[in-house]
Amino acid sequence: MDNATNGTNHSTTRVLVTGAGGFIGHHLVNYLKDKGYWVRGVDIKEPEFEATRADEFELLDLRDRANCLQATRGIDHVYALAADMGGMGFISKYHAEILHNNILINTHTMEAARLNGVTHYLYTSSACIYPEYLQTEAEVKPLKEEDAYPAQPQDAYGWEKLITEQLAYHYNKQYGIETRTVRFHNVYGELGTWQGGREKAPAAMCRKTAYAKLLGGKEGEPGGAPRIEIWGDGEQTRSFMHVDDCVEGVYRLMMSDCTEPLNLGRDRMVTINHLAQIAADAAGIEIEQAHIDGPMGVRGRNSDNDKLKEVLGWEPQIALEDGLDRTYKWIEQQVKKKLAREEAEATLAA
Ligand code: NAD
Repeated sequence: MDNATNGTNHSTTRVLVTGAGGFIGHHLVNYLKDKGYWVRGVDIKEPEFEATRADEFELLDLRDRANCLQATRGIDHVYALAADMGGMGFISKYHAEILHNNILINTHTMEAARLNGVTHYLYTSSACIYPEYLQTEAEVKPLKEEDAYPAQPQDAYGWEKLITEQLAYHYNKQYGIETRTVRFHNVYGELGTWQGGREKAPAAMCRKTAYAKLLGGKEGEPGGAPRIEIWGDGEQTRSFMHVDDCVEGVYRLMMSDCTEPLNLGRDRMVTINHLAQIAADAAGIEIEQAHIDGPMGVRGRNSDNDKLKEVLGWEPQIALEDGLDRTYKWIEQQVKKKLAREEAEATLAA
């Protein structure tokens, strides 16, 4: 642990979480509040599913430099999570705006942090930075941190993450800011986006399964045997980490003295077909899987956790079956609420 940060009087450390209206940011605010920190949350939107516990929450567009200066005023530690992002359907389509928006958010936030005397800055990168040429088979070798170069990320999203990793590296070397860089591998859990096009595979599987269970048939076509659609042949592989493990790992990394990029994910790889089966098991139903055209991303991806274990003395703990069970139950509740709202609206309109 870094002596500068392991003191117990956390209430004197002022923390900023950017992207605090988003999935991981909201969970991180809760985690930091439980630890006794004073927290400012910043986002362009408030958390969607429950109120924030941040001491201050400011609605600011961090593409704007002046807003970044406002967000980082009087702050000691920054957890930089704000990003224009989504699942495969989103990041494989909107390359230009993702690159544009995220470069502005990250460049301005980091420089504003420097100008405002921030001591510690944690940047949230992604497994999407890893080269496409190492991820062409479903049975891939887990990715080690040093595999990032020679670089060839699949999407603009990954290129931007890599550029900001470099920015963090140089802000550490040139200005002495204690930077941390974490590469998340597929985070899922309760209170995450589950519909609308930005949701990721675990949430999408849970939503489709909930519709199939509650209405029969498939989402949008009720009736008959429950079935769900899966993009591609479903044999593409990934590893998935529950958000509770994610925020624990993020905090442990901030408290460490590691300035190098670090993987944070589980190292158990499953196919998307298997993921769908786990969601069906959580729902307690049999489902038929229909494979349709859709973006699949890289063929296979897994996290090598050797460095994570060495640096943090810890690795994510929550089994996919347990985490997805909790996530499924939460998403089923959301779907039930939505169906009830739609029914009430239809009655009113009749
Ligand atoms: P999220 O989309 O739920 O949260 C990101 C938040 O950033 C959103 O609330 C969004 O409103 C906010 N934001 C977007 N543009 C903004 C702007 N201009 N100004 C201020 N706020 C803005 O995503 P998440 O899953 O919570 O991801 C958090 C971070 O982790 C992101 O940097 C993401 O790239 C990274 N990451 C996530 C995953 C994952 O599996 N969820 C994987 C790899 C990396």
